[in-house]
Amino acid sequence: MIEIIRGDITQCKVDAIVNAANCSLLGGGGVDGAIHRAAGPELLEECRKLGGCKTGEAKLTLGYKLPAKYVIHTPGPIWQGGQHEEAKLLGNCYYNSLRIAESKGCHSVAFPSISTGVYRYPLLEAAKIAIAAIYEYLQMLRSQLKVLIVCFDERTYQTYRQVLENYQNENKP
Ligand code: ADP
Repeated sequence: MIEIIRGDITQCKVDAIVNAANCSLLGGGGVDGAIHRAAGPELLEECRKLGGCKTGEAKLTLGYKLPAKYVIHTPGPIWQGGQHEEAKLLGNCYYNSLRIAESKGCHSVAFPSISTGVYRYPLLEAAKIAIAAIYEYLQMLRSQLKVLIVCFDERTYQTYRQVLENYQNENKP
């Protein structure tokens, strides 16, 4: 089950939230900064021990002061025109994050719109990749996992809503 909502991911009462991190895992701007601020300094302390993370891969920490129990950190690809495996790497972010959430027994996980901020991935393309990757993953799962996509601004929210609707219409059983 996928739900698109508008809001601030740091407020989400889910088992795990996903952080659109950078490869250092040492914090940054955008949603990464917001998550570190809300979780408190212990999050950075744990991140320092992880030794960074490759683009498209994902690593788990606790959520500390966040309502979420876990944070799954995944660096999205920086948009470089589309010929540098950006699409595959962005799909991997969703896939690998969901794999970790499932392995930890999570029932609910919230994603931000990975790579569409400072990393400049074109929004419509990124939304299509996100929805397809999440759907494909959920289809092969036996257990139920609730996936939220938390959009910070109206344009992002409307784009993901439209892409989800189109995807569901095109993939009706
Ligand atoms: P990236 O570096 O992967 O592009 P950004 O953090 O710059 O990551 O942006 C990713 C998306 O997260 C953007 O749509 C941005 O508006 C959004 N965002 C920023 N703060 C929050 C927040 N607190 N909750 C949810 N989404 C957020």
